[in-house]
Amino acid sequence: MKIGILSRNAKLYSTRRLIEACQERDHQVEVIDALRCYMNINSDKPSIHAKGQDLSGFDAIIPRIGASVTFYGCAVLRQFEMMGVFPVNESVAITRSRDKLRSLQLLSRKGVGMPITGFASKPDDIDDLLEMIGGAPVVIKLLEGTQGIGVVLAETRKAAESVIEAFLGLRANIMVQEYIKEAGGADIRCFVIGDKVIAAMKRQGAEGEFRSNLHRGGSASLVRITPEERRTAVLAAKVMGLRVAGVDLLRSQRGPLVMEVNSSPGLEGIEQATGKDIAGMIIQYIESTAKPQRTRTSGKG
Ligand code: ADP
Repeated sequence: MKIGILSRNAKLYSTRRLIEACQERDHQVEVIDALRCYMNINSDKPSIHAKGQDLSGFDAIIPRIGASVTFYGCAVLRQFEMMGVFPVNESVAITRSRDKLRSLQLLSRKGVGMPITGFASKPDDIDDLLEMIGGAPVVIKLLEGTQGIGVVLAETRKAAESVIEAFLGLRANIMVQEYIKEAGGADIRCFVIGDKVIAAMKRQGAEGEFRSNLHRGGSASLVRITPEERRTAVLAAKVMGLRVAGVDLLRSQRGPLVMEVNSSPGLEGIEQATGKDIAGMIIQYIESTAKPQRTRTSGKG
């Protein structure tokens, strides 16, 4: 097969591993930098060019679109979809997953468990907002944050009010969430391919840190997940319309709660924690699933 990896940097661990996995299985592979692509949008014969070359003849595209290039990256992916190329994750699903508010609304509509969460832009009654989600302690998150930056634990009502006021002063959209204390500074990353969790790891925050992000000194280890956790992760990926996803769960007294569903889950942490060839599994999945014109949402934009 001819497989394209939509990635800005061929040297990144995940991109490198996907290239290797393609080569090990005798597929032709090319890394495509979406920002370098230019497109001809017409109903007869949509096309994509980069560096003077016509990017045609691909059987499948693996999107690894960074958060900062979501808009243009998804437009290029959509163009591949219009050309009948199989996307591992569809542009519509990626766009959806990048919007935290929209994602949580979708998940809650389908009955997926999640921490009690409030969203706000300019609330004029912070007291009532806090009351609505059950009072302190709460976790306050910047909607645009990644890697744990802009995620604050406010243990008292006073602290929560101050942090919310500060964030709102910066004109940021925020999320105020019930603090799941019993998660003990850990979360579970479930790696979903198709309708299966093919690997899972537990990320534990550094001593005294409630955030488990590896970038913040957290450590990852292999974990056995429960059937309920497995079902929750698979359902969350399905609701988002993602074939490949990293679903982050918190273990709570009332069962697994979904925090986030990631459409470009990194391979490094999970391959190291589990010793599994996850890049290879993604390629195997493409081999068994990719067919031309398989974009489920085609026409819906
Ligand atoms: P980011 O997307 O920036 O990584 P997250 O929302 O995943 O931000 O939060 C970072 C970490 O903080 C999580 O991995 C988890 O360990 C912890 N955390 C986030 N929300 C909660 C919560 N409601 N209760 C307990 N811990 C939380």
